[in-house]
Amino acid sequence: NTIIIAIDGYSSTGKSTVAKQLAKELGYVYVDTGAMYRAVTLYAMENDFVSVSDFNKEALIAALPEIEVRFEVNPMTGLGEIILNGTNREQEIRGLNVARHVSTIAAVPEVRKKLVELQQKMGERKGIVMDGRDIGTVVFPEAELKLFMTATAKDRAERRYKELIERGEEVTYEDVLKNVVNRDHLDSTRKDSPLRQADDAIVIDNSNLTLKEQFDKILAIAQD
Ligand code: C5P
Repeated sequence: NTIIIAIDGYSSTGKSTVAKQLAKELGYVYVDTGAMYRAVTLYAMENDFVSVSDFNKEALIAALPEIEVRFEVNPMTGLGEIILNGTNREQEIRGLNVARHVSTIAAVPEVRKKLVELQQKMGERKGIVMDGRDIGTVVFPEAELKLFMTATAKDRAERRYKELIERGEEVTYEDVLKNVVNRDHLDSTRKDSPLRQADDAIVIDNSNLTLKEQFDKILAIAQD
């Protein structure tokens, strides 16, 4: 029987950090579903389906069968990296440019259907920790453990800003804060938004927790 741990929440709440640690500790496979939406977004950007000024939704939907996303484990880190049509794009999908368009792409029902099906197939493996927005509500409503992570926009923007600076991106804190707030707004207000808390999710507000405190708290819950 597969054990599934679903971790949902707003952007940059530290979901992926917790999910990775938890997977490592428990010997489970970690799946980052945001990376899949980011990969489809990168594809859309590179094929000029989406730009700051317009979005050719029909062209993207028509191209969906040509888009292959999967993960491949990097033996150095033991973590899955995103492969888009045969090429490792793990670095490119993390940029602010992709983040600017990803909510638009993720709002397309056909995109969601394709990715949710892929995610459900990944759940056939033994023991997985999956992070995203709709894992406990849509992808695996039957997950054994559901966590919903929150933190203030300010805390989240600070975390994100540090990550982007470390990647060498030239961004301002204000840009990042705007993106975080805007993405949450788009992600949570669209019709049939997946970004809501499952009734049986445990809410973790990590605004005031260190990574270690947060992880210890979650591990205790997971092992319960
Ligand atoms: O988790 P991350 O911030 O990388 O996710 C990027 C974007 O992908 C989110 O802002 C959201 O628009 C979309 N997403 C989603 N459903 C998921 C995971 C991510 O709509 N399960």
